[in-house]
Amino acid sequence: MYRDMQRVIRNKGSYGIDGMKTDELREHVKKTWATVKTKLLEGKYNPSSDTATHVELYKAFPNIGGVVHTHSSWATSWAQAGRGIPCYGTTHADYMYGEIPCARCLEGKEFDEYEKNTGLLIVDMFKDKDYEAVPAVLCKNHGPFAWGKDAHEAVHNAVVLEEVAKMAARCEMINPQVKPAPQDLQDKHYFRKHGANAYYGQGNK
Ligand SMILES: [Zn+2]
Repeated sequence: MYRDMQRVIRNKGSYGIDGMKTDELREHVKKTWATVKTKLLEGKYNPSSDTATHVELYKAFPNIGGVVHTHSSWATSWAQAGRGIPCYGTTHADYMYGEIPCARCLEGKEFDEYEKNTGLLIVDMFKDKDYEAVPAVLCKNHGPFAWGKDAHEAVHNAVVLEEVAKMAARCEMINPQVKPAPQDLQDKHYFRKHGANAYYGQGNK
């Protein structure tokens, strides 16, 4: 753990979900080490059972610092239906560029290393996509994974994804023939908030 902390400090690691800065971390670890060590030994701070999935995403997506997996009900409903979430409006386009894809189910021997292969499947799906512009994926019959530059942004993206999933489902209920938002509208909303020419906000620079 000490080695990991040194590495985080060297890398000028981004803030954690608790907002603690890297230089505050050293003091914090010093103060709480005895308790943390006890809890680690008692097995109370175990990593997620999906860690192997997260690891593959961290390896393939160099700019991410957090991964969040949920079974939030609207996003999971799309996953269970085996459908990506089309971009039906500007709320979606403000945060995520284009459809949120849905990855296929694993099968056969892939289940031997289920979590790792889930990660590899997602990475493979994104080989022609921009993982920063599309910071989430659905896994068929399962649920969503979202990511971001740090833990906070990953949680935020998971919440945005859930809201977008809810609106898209209602949108299809109201108009079953609905089509995705026009591409130029999607482009306008995404690129006014992201990339080199972004200008969205109150202009406090
Ligand atoms: Zn799950």
